Amino acid sequence: MYIGFIGLGIMGKPMAKNVLKAGYDVLVFDFNENSITELANEGANKASSGKEVAEKTDVIITMLPNSPNVDAALFDENGIAEGLSSGKTVIDMSSISPVASQEFSTKLEELNVDFLDAPVSGGEPKAVDGTIAVMVGGDKSVFDKYYDLMMTMAGSVTYVGEVGAGNITKLANQMVVATNIAAVGEAMTFVKKAGADPKLVFEAIRGGLAGSTVMDAKMPMILDRNFEPGFRIQLHIKDLQNALDTSHDVNASIPITAQLMEIMQSLKIDGLEGKDHASVAQYFEKINNI
Ligand code: NAD
Repeated sequence: MYIGFIGLGIMGKPMAKNVLKAGYDVLVFDFNENSITELANEGANKASSGKEVAEKTDVIITMLPNSPNVDAALFDENGIAEGLSSGKTVIDMSSISPVASQEFSTKLEELNVDFLDAPVSGGEPKAVDGTIAVMVGGDKSVFDKYYDLMMTMAGSVTYVGEVGAGNITKLANQMVVATNIAAVGEAMTFVKKAGADPKLVFEAIRGGLAGSTVMDAKMPMILDRNFEPGFRIQLHIKDLQNALDTSHDVNASIPITAQLMEIMQSLKIDGLEGKDHASVAQYFEKINNI
């Protein structure tokens, strides 16, 4: 099985490297020539378009920022769709709108091409270690066929339902992560204002009920004032916007997510959209004058 990989950013690059390490032949493409060269140095083959990747490989994995990027990669001139033929499969691992996933799946079905929406959680360190969590929507038989391939990048690969369910799951994940970071940021600002040491407070509470994977990942960054991404604020804004849009489509109400969106928007106005989402803590510091 020859694997195509399109989108070699913070996540895609280490994920593609793990597919290579597992022994698969991999053909890569990204707009960024340096990323293609880096993967070629690790043994990947180079392509010059999505069309070429789709023509030459059996399974095309995409790892792109948002729905419009996946749309462009699939359907623009020289894109993936132009190179697809019956029996191939597209696995989109980007975090995008579940509605867009369903639209892409329907369009690809017309070409007799299978589609899975398989977004991931875990961030760059887990992408490097090959321990990300993958949440997959699509036909169960297609999931079963590519389970081993997805496991080359992952600590867990979980089937969550029909196409779109992968991204519904991912949006829920992003709502919980954003809420957690905001809770940590607000609490630690309170701790500073009240005169205790955030480092000692962190050590005291991380093993208790308030402790979380998010706290363990983000609190050291907040303490070290290291806001280099990681996961950029602009990508989290994208996820919260997709959650709000989907929520309104299905007549749900998600008020905490709406509030978090405004906090992240305020950070964007401050020019921090390229920084890690741990910088949500800086919002609480700003409104508290510390
Ligand atoms: P990124 O911006 O670092 O990388 C995106 C890559 O896609 C870039 O290299 C860009 O050049 C390339 N690209 C964009 N459009 C393209 C096209 N049409 N054809 C070819 N290449 C194209 O983003 P990232 O941080 O790797 O995130 C990718 C996805 O994974 C996003 O949906 C994000 O929300 C999700 N995600 C990110 C993290 C994280 O911690 N960074 C964690 C989990 C999930």
